Amino acid sequence: MQANEQKRTEISTLGEFGLIEHLTKKFAIKNASTFKGIGDDAAVIGKSDPLTVVSTDLLVEGIHFDLMYFPLKHLGYKSVVVNLSDIYAMNAVPKQITMSIAISNRFSVEALEELYEGIRAACKNYDVDLVGGDTTSSNKGLIISVTAIGEGEKDKLAYRNGAKPGDLICITGDVGAAYLGLQIMEREKQLYLSNPGIQPDLEEQKYLVGRQLKPEARRDMVDVFRKAKLVPTAMIDVSDGVSSDLMHICRQSGVGAFIEETGIPVHEEAKLMALKFNLDPITCALNGGEDYELLFTINPKDLDKTKLLPDVFIMGEITEKDEGIKFHTNGGRIVDLEAQGWKHF
Ligand code: ADP
Ligand code: MG
Repeated sequence: MQANEQKRTEISTLGEFGLIEHLTKKFAIKNASTFKGIGDDAAVIGKSDPLTVVSTDLLVEGIHFDLMYFPLKHLGYKSVVVNLSDIYAMNAVPKQITMSIAISNRFSVEALEELYEGIRAACKNYDVDLVGGDTTSSNKGLIISVTAIGEGEKDKLAYRNGAKPGDLICITGDVGAAYLGLQIMEREKQLYLSNPGIQPDLEEQKYLVGRQLKPEARRDMVDVFRKAKLVPTAMIDVSDGVSSDLMHICRQSGVGAFIEETGIPVHEEAKLMALKFNLDPITCALNGGEDYELLFTINPKDLDKTKLLPDVFIMGEITEKDEGIKFHTNGGRIVDLEAQGWKHF
């Protein structure tokens, strides 16, 4: 046997992004209509303005969701919304989705109707059309794949690679709550497993649980940017966590950054719950993920316009690459920002 044939590299040595890069690096772009290939929240294709943006996501039972506490209707809704979020992160507007599912006979028609109720609600709320998909069987778990297609004006699209030193780093909404919602549901699941007589009490934590079970995408921001005549220099949606997603912007833009602890919006309920779990609220906010807020950078000449934007917080500033990616604590310390967000491998 040749030495070559014995070689086995573990996926974990590359990580998710290393693996994608490794597998795709030999693919050259051949078509003039491919404006943006791999590496952003969505690909950009087409020949005329507006261009078409396309994004796809895969959700696997036991990895991305647990049906013990994730109602199918919410799962349907969330699976659409997280995909639409990637289209908004391009400063584009989603128009269609396709939906593919792999199911086992563990699921009844009624259960799948529930799933599709949620999908329908998301299509209605976000004005997108379900235009296709695929249905197949799986041995056991449920697998959902959603593709979203949207439209974006060429000069308004926001990529991950446009940030420049001096740009301001902004974020919408608040971060960390979805992660704490997940912690609450995990805790209730463990309680239930050890004592099935106990009914979960999630009512009290409606905000946090809602951020996990029924996230919304920042559709409003595309309009807000248009009205303010503002185009972010770079943008990404916060799916893996602020740290990890800011790092994507920095890596692809070839820049560094600093963010201030005071600039990170954390909901009061998230702060309290983090402390109950003995977690640091800021660590949850930076590394939690699944917030589906928009993280974007703007040219400092647009500062005045940005200050007027509703629900937008200035977190920090883009710096030169060799300055690294830093976190300024309230105590005046400067530390390296580390991505400890959602890791698939
Ligand atoms: P997001 O978190 O915004 O959904 P990802 O981190 O999943 O984005 O993907 C980063 C980029 O890599 C995207 O351009 C995506 O289309 C691409 N990508 C992910 N997995 C693969 C794959 N197996 N083959 C080709 N491209 C991929
Ligand atoms: Mg994304």
